[in-house]
Amino acid sequence: MTYYAAPVARLVEEFEKLPGIGHKTAQRLAFHILNLPEEKVESLAGAIREAKLKIKYCSVCSNLTDVDPCSICRGGTRDRSVICVVEDPKDVVAMEKTREFKGLYHVLHGAISPMEGIGPEDIKIKELLARISGENVREVILATNPNIEGEATAMYISKLIRPLGVKTTRIAHGIPVGGNLEYADEVTLAKALEGRREI
Ligand SMILES: [Zn+2]
Repeated sequence: MTYYAAPVARLVEEFEKLPGIGHKTAQRLAFHILNLPEEKVESLAGAIREAKLKIKYCSVCSNLTDVDPCSICRGGTRDRSVICVVEDPKDVVAMEKTREFKGLYHVLHGAISPMEGIGPEDIKIKELLARISGENVREVILATNPNIEGEATAMYISKLIRPLGVKTTRIAHGIPVGGNLEYADEVTLAKALEGRREI
């Protein structure tokens, strides 16, 4: 049984598909939008469409970008000999907020998870290896999340990198085990970066 007109029900349903949005929040958002003036709704819909159309993966680091290579990869002041490997574009944002890291990034877009059927070939590991072989890389910092999948991914990558003679470090202190990089505050994340160890 539905209590809404069909278009409202559809809007609520679409919101409910978003991460972290339950039925009540979906309903609140839907009614909020219905109360907005038409131009505000157009602006919101346009922003969603434009972001989806214009944002691609950077051909170097696989971060989300509207210019290729992305602004970080093109940045003249970045230390190009250090690559920080993260699982998600949101982790790049978290790292950048610390203002501690001046190197480049590599976004894996996930972590190895046999439980979810995600293998090494499903994330951007081969692209990382190609980068390390092709560029003058001195250090690879493995900043995957400190949970089972993130640790397994870090171990897997470190084994592949070791024969290439590049220093491989893992962020250490501060990030709670089982935690997520994106939820860590800037100071904690900066400390974790500072306390990285070779693996
Ligand atoms: Zn890039």
